[in-house]
Formats: sequence, structure tokens, C-alpha cells
Amino acid sequence: MRNYFLAGNWKMNKTPSEAKSFAAELKASLKGASHKLMVAPSFIAIPGVAEELKGSNILVGAQNMSNAESGAHTGEVSPEMLKDAGVDVVILGHSERRAIYGESDAFINEKVQLALNHGFEVILCVGETLDEREGGKLEEIVRTQTVEGLKNVSESSLSKVTIAYEPVWAIGTGKTATPQDADDVHAFIRKVLAETYSSDAAEAMVIQYGGSVKPGNVKELMAKENIDGALVGGASLKVEDFTAIAKFD
Ligand code: PEP
Repeated sequence: MRNYFLAGNWKMNKTPSEAKSFAAELKASLKGASHKLMVAPSFIAIPGVAEELKGSNILVGAQNMSNAESGAHTGEVSPEMLKDAGVDVVILGHSERRAIYGESDAFINEKVQLALNHGFEVILCVGETLDEREGGKLEEIVRTQTVEGLKNVSESSLSKVTIAYEPVWAIGTGKTATPQDADDVHAFIRKVLAETYSSDAAEAMVIQYGGSVKPGNVKELMAKENIDGALVGGASLKVEDFTAIAKFD
């Protein structure tokens, strides 16, 4: 049985003080929620949010992490820094990192391995652009991002990994993949994992959907057999919306 995992990616929103008071409100409104939950503030807001969420049922995520341990990497944040600040989960390979900052599968894979070596959970994001989908490349792209992103990751480490399927054309656009379309891609990812690892590993993998998830569509998406949670951008920025998503059932 897979547990639902609902995660909020706050992106470059909320100052440290806004994030801390928002976390306090969320902690109260999500008390007793039954699913696995996480929020990912900006790096600079992490310490305050982690302090606020200590002992709560909400994990603390980071939106990115350096591919290096330490040293001359101006502007980067290392695994040890994130650990010390109270991070549990690292989001890697988000489409904005891929598209805006040119992160490749190989680079993302370095980060995935480093994060797992440091004991973090990882959310690995994969997903096709509209051009790729319309050009018939959906499966090729999703397969490559999944397999290359997980290169050298052992089957025993997979329990620490969540895949987030996020069709790029559905992120922040108000367009959502239909639950059936999303479920089909999730089933395909599971097939790729079964071929790469084993059917047991594929069955156990939590695969989130991301792309304009809202209180109004979350239930229908979560009802699908292969959809095990959501990575939520815009709708994670309001307490009532994220609460409705986290408590969808
Ligand atoms: C995201 O960026 O991961 C995302 C899914 O954003 P939104 O929910 O706003 O589409």
C-alpha cells in the first residue's frame, strides 16, 4: 500500500517572516491530517519554517540543493547546510530548474545521489513540454528523465525517492492533465521502474502529480490508481487551499 504524499512548493514566494507565520497557520490547520505532508520554502526561509514545524506532521523541503559537498560554489547551498537548517526532503529536477537554469539529467542525477547519501528524501520531478507531447516524445522524455535521474541509485534507496510527474504545460497555467492522462503517464513511469529495478520497487514507488492541482480537482486526481499524491505550486500559497488539498478525502 502506498501512502498519499501532498507537498507544497512555495517557489520564490514569501519572505522569511511571512513564511514562518504561514507555517504556524498551516501547522494548526493541518493538525491530525492523515497523509504525508511537506512544504518547501525558499532557502532563506527554511530555518524559521523548520523551527515552527518542529514536532508537527509537516516535513520541511528544500526546492533545490548543490551538486557539491562544500567549497567554491558561489550562491549554492550544500547538503550539510540544509541538514543543519532542518530539511527532510529535497526537490530536484523541477522543470523551472531544467528550463531556466539549464539543469541536465546528469547534473540532476549528481544531486539525487548526493542528497540520498546525506540521508535526505528526494522528490525527483519529471515531465514533458507541450512541444514534446505534441511531437510524440512524451514517453521518451519521461523515460529518460526518470532513468537518468535515478542512475546509480540502488533499489534499496528507492524507498527514499518520490517521483513527481509534472507536465510542464500544466504548471502554473491553470491547465491540468485529465486524471486519465495523468494516470496513464504514472502507469508508464511505473513500467519504466519495473524494467529498471523490479515490479516490487515499481509498485512501492510514490508518484505525485503536479500541474495546477487545486481543491476543486485534487479528489478526482487522487482517485486514480497510479496517482499517489501531489506536488502543488500556486495552491500551496494559501492556507485554506493547501489544507483542502492535504485533507482531500
Ligand atoms: C509546480 O511548480 O511544481 C507546480 C505544480 O505548480 P502549480 O501547482 O502552480 O501548477
